Amino acid sequence: MRFSFLSIAREALRGNRGWTPHWRDAEPKAAYDAVIIGGGGHGLATAYYLAKNHGLTNIAVLEKSWIGSGNVGRNTTIVRSNYLLPGNIPLYELSMKLWEGLERDLNYNAMVSQRGVLNLCHTDAQRDAFARRGNAMRLHGVEAELLDRKAVQRMCPFLDFDNARFPIQGGLLQRRGGTVRHDAVAWGYARGASDRGVDIVQNCAVTGIRIANGVVEGVETTRGFIAAKKVAMAVAGSTSQVASMAGLRLPIESHVLQAFVSEGLKPLIPGVITFGAGHFYISQSDKGGLVFGGDIDGYNSYAQRGNLHVVEDVAEEAMGLMPMTGRLRMLRSWGGIMDMSMDGSPIIDRTPIDGLFLNAGWCYGGFKAIPGSGLAYAHLIAKGEPHPAATALRLDRFRTGHLIDEKGQGAQANLH
Ligand SMILES: Cc1cc2nc3c(=O)[nH]c(=O)nc-3n(C[C@H](O)[C@H](O)[C@H](O)COP(=O)(O)OP(=O)(O)OC[C@H]3O[C@@H](n4cnc5c(N)ncnc54)[C@H](O)[C@@H]3O)c2cc1C
Repeated sequence: MRFSFLSIAREALRGNRGWTPHWRDAEPKAAYDAVIIGGGGHGLATAYYLAKNHGLTNIAVLEKSWIGSGNVGRNTTIVRSNYLLPGNIPLYELSMKLWEGLERDLNYNAMVSQRGVLNLCHTDAQRDAFARRGNAMRLHGVEAELLDRKAVQRMCPFLDFDNARFPIQGGLLQRRGGTVRHDAVAWGYARGASDRGVDIVQNCAVTGIRIANGVVEGVETTRGFIAAKKVAMAVAGSTSQVASMAGLRLPIESHVLQAFVSEGLKPLIPGVITFGAGHFYISQSDKGGLVFGGDIDGYNSYAQRGNLHVVEDVAEEAMGLMPMTGRLRMLRSWGGIMDMSMDGSPIIDRTPIDGLFLNAGWCYGGFKAIPGSGLAYAHLIAKGEPHPAATALRLDRFRTGHLIDEKGQGAQANLH
C-alpha cells in the first residue's frame, strides 16, 4: 500500500480502517540464495538494496526478536557525516546523501530532519582540531562551517558560555546533519524489502552457522536449518557471539550505551548540540522531550540496560552545558549493546569463510550509517567486491596496521 496525499485523505475519512500491514511476517523457507542475520537497520537496509539494486529477492532477514528491537530502535537518532579520516568520510557522506532522498525512495515518512549538528569547542587546541576536521570534510566535498563564539551565541543563547571550566569558544557546524525517526527507518526498509519479495522472519534466532570445507552452507536456527549460498552477519552488539558460531574471533567488544529522554518542553534546541569538554550530546524530539546521552558504561556487557555512574556523569555534563537542565525531569532511560571495534571504525568485508560476510564495528555511531552501509554491504554480497565508498573498512586492517582511528585513541575499544 502506497502513501500519497489521496490515500491518507481517504483513510482519514474512513477511520483508518483500510491500511494493510507494512511487511509480510514470513515463515522461513528451507533454502535461500542469501540470508541476512539480524533485523536491525543494517540488516534490513542490506536486504532492501540487494533486492532493489541487484535484483536478488530469494533472500531472508532472520531476526531473533522483533525487527527494530535492537539498537536501531534504541539510538538517539543523530545523522551526520562530519568525519576526519579518508577511510570513513566517503561511506558516511554516501549515507547522508541517501538520507536526503530516503523518504521518496521508500515512500515512507522517516521524519528526516536536517536541523544541523553543532560540535562545541572549549579550548584553542580543540578549535584547531575542528578546523582540521572541517577542512578534511570540505576536501571530500562535504560542507562544514567553523563558528566563532558570537555565532554560536546567536544560534543557542541558552548555553552557558561563561562556565569557568569549560567556556564555549565556538563550534563546527554541519547544517545537513540532523535527526531521523529511528524505528521508522527499520519499518520503512522492512516494508521496501518485503514489497520486493524479501522474507522478513521474526522470532528466528540463528544458533549455528554450518560450514563444510571452508564454504558456508546455511544457518541453524530456532526454527530449523535454513540452507543459504551466502550468509551475511549484521547483528551489531551480538557480533562476537554470532561470529564465534563460525569459529571467528573478531577485534570487537560489546559495551552498553545509554540514552535518556526528558519531559516535553516548548521548542528550545534548534538542532543537535555536542559538548566538547566531555562526551554529551543533546537534541529535542518533535514531541518536545530532550533526548541526550553520553559515554558507554565502560565495561563489557550484553545487557540492554546501564548503570548509575553514567546517569550521574551525563547529568553533570548536561548541567555544565545548560544549567537549567537541573530543573528537568527525566522520563526514561535505556541501553543498547554496542559493537565497539578496536579503532572505532566499522568493518564491511568478507570473512575467511567462503560465502560468509561481516558488517560490524559500528560502535555508537551506526545509525547514521544505515543507508550507506546497507548499500555498500549489498554491493559486496552481490558482486563479491567492496563498494568504492567502503574499500578501507576491511577486517584485515587490524592485522596489517591500517587502522582508521578517528579519535587517535589506539586499539582500546572502550575509549572510542
Ligand atoms: C543509546 C544509543 C544511542 C545511539 N545513538 C546513535 C546516534 O545518535 N547516531 C548514530 O549514528 N548511532 C547511534 N547509536 C548506534 C546505532 O544505534 C547502532 O550502531 C546501529 O543501530 C547498529 O546497527 P543495527 O541497527 O543493525 O543494530 P540492531 O538494531 O541492534 O540490529 C541487530 C539485530 O540482530 C539481532 N540478532 C542478534 N543476534 C541474533 C541471532 N543470533 N539471530 C538472529 N538475530 C540476531 C538483534 O536482535 C538485533 O535486532 C546509538 C546506540 C545506542 C544504544
